[in-house]
Amino acid sequence: MEAKAVNIVEKLVWEKIEEVMAYKPDMCKCDKCKADIAAYALNRLGAKYVVSSEGELYARTEILDKDFHMALLVTLTEAMELVAKNPKHDKES
Ligand SMILES: [Zn+2]
Repeated sequence: MEAKAVNIVEKLVWEKIEEVMAYKPDMCKCDKCKADIAAYALNRLGAKYVVSSEGELYARTEILDKDFHMALLVTLTEAMELVAKNPKHDKES
């Protein structure tokens, strides 16, 4: 069985990013903007490494307490607002 250290925050950010972006239908959803949002959120939230193996599911629920979940959504929303206002590329016509 293979085990490795995985940043659970990164996984969760990528899982939630679509959900959060759905609240802002007019914003650009290209990979670049998505990556910008993720990078901002990840810098803010910091990393939480867990050992990923068959025990991954347990580690996930453990880390998904209410406070963390809240912080994740708030930070992602904040990141999205910033990127929406200032996309790092030209507006598509
Ligand atoms: Zn974009």
